[in-house]
Amino acid sequence: MNREKEIPYKIYLEEKEMPDSWYNVRADMKNKPAPLLNPGTLKPLTFEEMRGVFCDELCRQELDDTTPYIEIPEEIRKFYKMYRPSPLVRAYCLEEKLDTPAKIYYKFEGNNTSGSHKLNSAIAQAYYAKKQGLKGVTTETGAGQWGTALSMACAYFGLDCRVYMVKCSYEQKPFRREVMRTYGANVTPSPSETTSVGRKILEEFPGTSGSLGCAISEAVEAATSREGYRYVLGSVLTQVLLHQSVIGLEAKTAMDKYGIKPDMIIGCAGGGSNLGGLISPFMGEKLRGEADYEIVAVEPASCPSLTRGRYVYDFCDTGKVCPLAKMYTLGSGFIPAPNHAGGLRYHGMSSVLSQLYHDGYMKAVSVEQTSVFRAAEEFARVEGILPAPESSHAIKAAMDEAIRCRQTGEERTILFGLTGTGYFDMMAYERFNNGEMKDYVPTDEELAKGFAGIPSFPGNDVC
Ligand SMILES: *Cc1c(COP(=O)(O)O)cnc(C)c1O
Repeated sequence: MNREKEIPYKIYLEEKEMPDSWYNVRADMKNKPAPLLNPGTLKPLTFEEMRGVFCDELCRQELDDTTPYIEIPEEIRKFYKMYRPSPLVRAYCLEEKLDTPAKIYYKFEGNNTSGSHKLNSAIAQAYYAKKQGLKGVTTETGAGQWGTALSMACAYFGLDCRVYMVKCSYEQKPFRREVMRTYGANVTPSPSETTSVGRKILEEFPGTSGSLGCAISEAVEAATSREGYRYVLGSVLTQVLLHQSVIGLEAKTAMDKYGIKPDMIIGCAGGGSNLGGLISPFMGEKLRGEADYEIVAVEPASCPSLTRGRYVYDFCDTGKVCPLAKMYTLGSGFIPAPNHAGGLRYHGMSSVLSQLYHDGYMKAVSVEQTSVFRAAEEFARVEGILPAPESSHAIKAAMDEAIRCRQTGEERTILFGLTGTGYFDMMAYERFNNGEMKDYVPTDEELAKGFAGIPSFPGNDVC
């Protein structure tokens, strides 16, 4: 009990305690994540094939399943120091409110202008593009956090940044769009007439409000058809999980300093990058048999890739221009119901997390959106931070566990990732506050339509 009292509300690391290398969890995985496949040949994508799309150094990181520690270049560490280390917060007020014996910690990644963890990878990707002498990068963005983070990173290194923004977000989230433009990015609503894949999608689905998968197809085409440009992606890829390991490394150092060992680690899961980053050093210990942790991915019930998806090779994008990835997927044509407001809407899941989940190293739960927003408001009122809807999926699961501990009297230590702030999500909060938000859980028949779009070839059984 005395020891407990010594733990401050916020544990900050000193600059010299920040990691100087990222940790590559793949190095400790016995079953490596399945490689990306060339959709034409169905053979693993080679470095040569990949480098037309991604920067060279990022291709190397994407393909590297064996090097455990990869040094963070000095320039990136310098940028990290502007907004990191991020605090590890002991949620004393939430614990009190829930009257739980559980100890709750969260790693808060919302303390930068982009408002989320995505800047951790954006700055790394922009750095390698600059170092290679490229003119610019292209990308897609849904809700806008990734586009914002990348705009900031490109502004810092003086790179051109072209963002394809899902059309409904472009129209509904003008503030995000303007933040990106303020940092110098060129923002196009997707699908657009500026790419052939965009024109094709518009012809097939006139009036479509767009999807992430469709914006990815356009961004890839924009990069590969333009001299001196490459495509960058804010989640899902193994390189992004690598960069996000900075979250987990800092969290682990901070906990080790105070002798804290989490029993349960929780993260929201869209494409898997924040969760993959947060858990990586803990998962490393688990894979090496040095420690055990209960690790939980939390996803929306309206976009349940881990809990209800299939573990197969699938397209990463609607336009089917990207390589095939083996992952838990709902099918690249899957689009969450129109009333879905909580983010985390990607149809698939990082191949690293998919493999770890498949091998039983982590669990997954799905939660419905009204319960997520209820948890968000309760959290905001006691802990002060206005959380992003995405992050609130993790809050919801952490609160559920803390309430369970109240009933059983277990003094478990819970760590969750608070990935960002929700200032640009007030339309969703408004709907919730007005009592207009509904839950929607897709039926098996609806999911079957998405599964039907998964490519079928020998060894890729969808059923
Ligand atoms: C993008 C985003 C997520 C989900 O992406 P992952 O790759 O699964 O981490 C979660 N929270 C916030 C705030 C985000 O911006």
